[in-house]
Amino acid sequence: ALYNQVQDLKGTIRVYCRVRPFLSGQSNGQSTVDYIGENGDIMIVNPQKQGKGARKVFSFNKVFGTNVTQQQIYSDTQPLVRSVLDGYNVCIFAYGQTGSGKTYTMSGPDLTTAETWGVNYRALGDLFHISKTRKDFIEYEVGVQMIEIYNEQVRDLLVSDGKIRNNSQLNGLNVPDASLIPVKCTQDVLDLMKIGQRNRAVGATALNERSSRSHSILTVHVRGKELASGSMSKGCLHLVDLAGSERVDRSEAVGERLKEAQHINRSLSALGDVIAALAQKSSHVPYRNSKLTQVLQDSLGGQAKTLMFVHINPEVDALGETISTLKFAERVA
Ligand code: ADP
Ligand code: MG
Repeated sequence: ALYNQVQDLKGTIRVYCRVRPFLSGQSNGQSTVDYIGENGDIMIVNPQKQGKGARKVFSFNKVFGTNVTQQQIYSDTQPLVRSVLDGYNVCIFAYGQTGSGKTYTMSGPDLTTAETWGVNYRALGDLFHISKTRKDFIEYEVGVQMIEIYNEQVRDLLVSDGKIRNNSQLNGLNVPDASLIPVKCTQDVLDLMKIGQRNRAVGATALNERSSRSHSILTVHVRGKELASGSMSKGCLHLVDLAGSERVDRSEAVGERLKEAQHINRSLSALGDVIAALAQKSSHVPYRNSKLTQVLQDSLGGQAKTLMFVHINPEVDALGETISTLKFAERVA
């Protein structure tokens, strides 16, 4: 059954929508989410409007409501993650405005509570677990990279100065030469994540501010060697927590803020263009238009698999961003 699921996902692009719950002290009883259907439909309502124009339906592969747990989210992602051990390249993206739950889905609210761990840790735990069960037949090596793309510049989060060193550890892969650190267990990864988070905060007023304006990519490289035949396989998993998709008011943003906003808008639309071109099987895929799509080029399209989690915040104040997030997502679905 697992094999079939993986086959079904081959070369496809899936889009899942997740609605984050109201946070404590925030709920005023009004939500812009009117209805979530079993079949991947979500109906958005504008409480300030009446009649026909007040409601709009969007359709995705799946929609997860506010009561869905981190475990349930992961169990839908698992076949994709597992296919990396069979040599596939996979990209998992978190898209949405700042505060909509991207980091919650990818990492979880904090590193110390395993119950609320996000896709990142569950995926790594799973990869280690399965590689152990196969150890009599296949020898796996796992390594991770962490990079950040800020203002179209790539920084290595696993070195303190952020500089990319050209040490060609990754021959043949279109990923920058960021440090590739071998890992043996989930604890190794947790330790690296802490280093990465510390390095990410450097120079930023606050980690949260920085993380909302840069894309962070955790890449897991897996190499397998079949013991009987000696044949090798190579797959990688990119876990991407994207910069906040909110439109910045041009009349308010100036200087650095305006520059950041323009870089983010441009790279998110470049990502949308690439995925839409792949979804439409277009002969020209415009990878070169942003650092993000260049870095991920080998894992977008071809045999690679893509999963986009789009996040929405159900508050009435967020309605405008919610609609533009869902429109972006529908274009790539
Ligand atoms: P983003 O990364 O998109 O800016 P966060 O993941 O930081 O957003 O989420 C914003 C806030 O909402 C955080 O306090 C987070 O813990 C909370 N949150 C997000 N999604 C959920 C969820 N599914 N369940 C409970 N709390 C959530
Ligand atoms: Mg975040």
